[in-house]
Amino acid sequence: MSILVLGGAGYIGSHTVYELIEAGRDVVVADNLLTGFKEAVHPKARFYQLDIRDRGALDTLFQAEDIEGVIHFAASSQVGESMFNPLKYYDNNLHGTMVLLQSMVAHGVDKIVFSSTAATYGEPESVPILETDRTQPTSCYGETKLSMEHMMSWVSKAHGLRYVALRYFNACGAHASGKIGEAHNPETHLIPLILQVPNGQREKISIFGDDYPTPDGTCIRDYIHVTDLAQAHILALDYLMNGGENNVFNLGNGVGFSVNEVIEVARAVTGHPIPAEVTPRRAGDPAQLIASSEKAKTVLGWKPQYDDLNTIVSSAWNWHKAHPHGYEK
Ligand code: UDP
Repeated sequence: MSILVLGGAGYIGSHTVYELIEAGRDVVVADNLLTGFKEAVHPKARFYQLDIRDRGALDTLFQAEDIEGVIHFAASSQVGESMFNPLKYYDNNLHGTMVLLQSMVAHGVDKIVFSSTAATYGEPESVPILETDRTQPTSCYGETKLSMEHMMSWVSKAHGLRYVALRYFNACGAHASGKIGEAHNPETHLIPLILQVPNGQREKISIFGDDYPTPDGTCIRDYIHVTDLAQAHILALDYLMNGGENNVFNLGNGVGFSVNEVIEVARAVTGHPIPAEVTPRRAGDPAQLIASSEKAKTVLGWKPQYDDLNTIVSSAWNWHKAHPHGYEK
């Protein structure tokens, strides 16, 4: 029996595949390679290049492989882009997931762990955020992820499929081996953009707004190492395999850092002054997102190993220093 990882050539997907293979699992990866990289796919995984909106390609895969559970990362994931291109998000995230679930139901594959996001909450009522808090996304990205959760719930009622939605806070860092790391084109995430400055690829980092209701006026986020996220997927899959019911878990460290504080840590890690300038706010950004991950710790037994921002930024720096252009030669 094998685990199918959709989007397994992407950032969080590729790290999860590494952890699954390390844990001795047989892994099949499917990815359309639009934002993922073939080089990020673990050499021991069987690879299919396909788009999850292609029902025929999915059916062929489910016929050829003996899949016991699916981990689904295949989605568009940029808050900013979702605000000016919402239909791309409906197509990739919702339509894609709908086709995937149709194929899973047709082939009797009934367990799925998938990427949700802190963006499902929108502007939080209070922090740290609990899974039971109000969900009112402020971005189309968050809206499509919340709708994916709802779709799973209805499909579960009708067809008996079981799911775990993992609401990630801010994924960052890179694999300890140095073989895989974060690579987006174009890059939009804070830590890799900051590290482009000491890497000589950017003169300064933009701070998107310093007039938020936070102590230093810049946005606060909860940064969580990608390997810790990867471990949570394995625990969630095992939870479903052991008969666990549908569930939603936050994944974060429970500590918030402002954009200014992240830049300070990067200055300390790299020894570079990293000039910064304040620019206007980015549409769709809530002021503060900090997770309560007590539920994942209690129910799944999740124990994040990298809870220190210095260690997280150092692991990212190791990767970006050695791979300034990501996977491109
Ligand atoms: N951010 C910033 N400058 C940048 C990129 C991001 O100030 O060049 C801010 C962004 O507004 C947010 C935080 O950094 O408050 C984290 O953004 P990122 O895109 O990394 O993750 P997101 O919070 O959107 O998932």
